[in-house]
Amino acid sequence: MLWGFLPNSADAIWTRTPDLENPGEFLDTFDGPWQLQDLINDDTITALNPLRMNSKGMIAATGMKGGVEKLLLLVPMGLESHRFGRVQHREPFASDVFPVKIPLAEQHDPERCPLIINDDNDDHDSIPATPYPEDKDDAVLGSTDDDVVLVTLQKFDVLEQGTLEFTTSSNADIRLYKYIQDQDVLTAIPSLPLTLDLANPNPQSPLADILTDEVSFYVEGLNANSNLELRLILKNASGVEMTRKTANIEIMDTRVIWLSAQSHGQLSETVVKNKLKTWFSGANIVRRDRDWLDEDADVMVPVTFRLSELFPKDDNSAHSSWRNASSADISDIFSYLSIQGDKQIYVVEDLYDNAGGIAGRGEGIMIIPLENSPKDVIAHEWLHAFGDIGHICIEEHLMVGNGQGEPSCDKERGSDVREAEKILFLNN
Ligand SMILES: [Zn+2]
Repeated sequence: MLWGFLPNSADAIWTRTPDLENPGEFLDTFDGPWQLQDLINDDTITALNPLRMNSKGMIAATGMKGGVEKLLLLVPMGLESHRFGRVQHREPFASDVFPVKIPLAEQHDPERCPLIINDDNDDHDSIPATPYPEDKDDAVLGSTDDDVVLVTLQKFDVLEQGTLEFTTSSNADIRLYKYIQDQDVLTAIPSLPLTLDLANPNPQSPLADILTDEVSFYVEGLNANSNLELRLILKNASGVEMTRKTANIEIMDTRVIWLSAQSHGQLSETVVKNKLKTWFSGANIVRRDRDWLDEDADVMVPVTFRLSELFPKDDNSAHSSWRNASSADISDIFSYLSIQGDKQIYVVEDLYDNAGGIAGRGEGIMIIPLENSPKDVIAHEWLHAFGDIGHICIEEHLMVGNGQGEPSCDKERGSDVREAEKILFLNN
């Protein structure tokens, strides 16, 4: 990604170049005017002749414009977004374990670079509560948060005048956090744009490190925005924009799915609440689907599962022995819940056959045992109970199941969601 730029002088001309798939390849094969011509998107410049490329990758060239010879400089400048994902790469640190970079051809297609508003509860704050805890409530990004996009700015050391600016098309819709190696909790940058005076760089600027290394930032979504543009802008010493590098992301709004719960009388309310926090956070894994396992865009499901109410535990003596519940016991629970009408989740100690959860298809009810429940159990059972679908025997699929009245899938369970199920999540 080389960008054209002319020095700051009264008669300078400047132009920008199209993206190159691989700047390194270009530099290696750079051997003549014809290649440089391909870079120039300005047919008023003619007779372009490269002079030389310096050790920092900057190319000087001369061109004719209006019969006058001009000097042209091409400077390497890069901004690239990564796949939506969790902050799992903090340790051990290595840039090659960052989330996969989005292909350059897709960097400007916001639908291929989605981010979901950070309104779930990966922080595991107490639930239920009013207002409901959302991760974006504070200007802090914890190590368990998975609703961010990483953006990497390439090292920039070719000029010693002018200003670099990093900003977006709508700064009110995001928070920005600088990636810091081995730091678990990051504090948001208080205001944008970020600027760096190249002639007199402030070492306190979050951009300062760009002079010696690549710099990465996390973007957290606060408001929906169908096309948010990330911008790295180069200005000359007079403040005139010379060139910019951009990438586009979509910040998706969410559908909130409220569910209420009740537990069996023998269980501790504290234990149940702690499990529910984990399960509801786990249900929100469908927001990021497979984490780009297949190197392709996920089917991201912009839903936020929340616990609306934890009812007082069920002390009814008729329901006092659900430990190692039998199928007859399960039937009793379903009868009990269907009469209640306002409880979707019943928490028990255990279920027969080590089932991770049981739901009646289309019945809006699920039973979840404290033991053996996978983190995605609520999302899985929700699709049975509210989406009225059965098991789907595809490897890594959210709906892989082990029978319980339906065909058993001999597959690895995952969080993959296909478009058909996404529609169910959003509409049922
Ligand atoms: Zn199932």
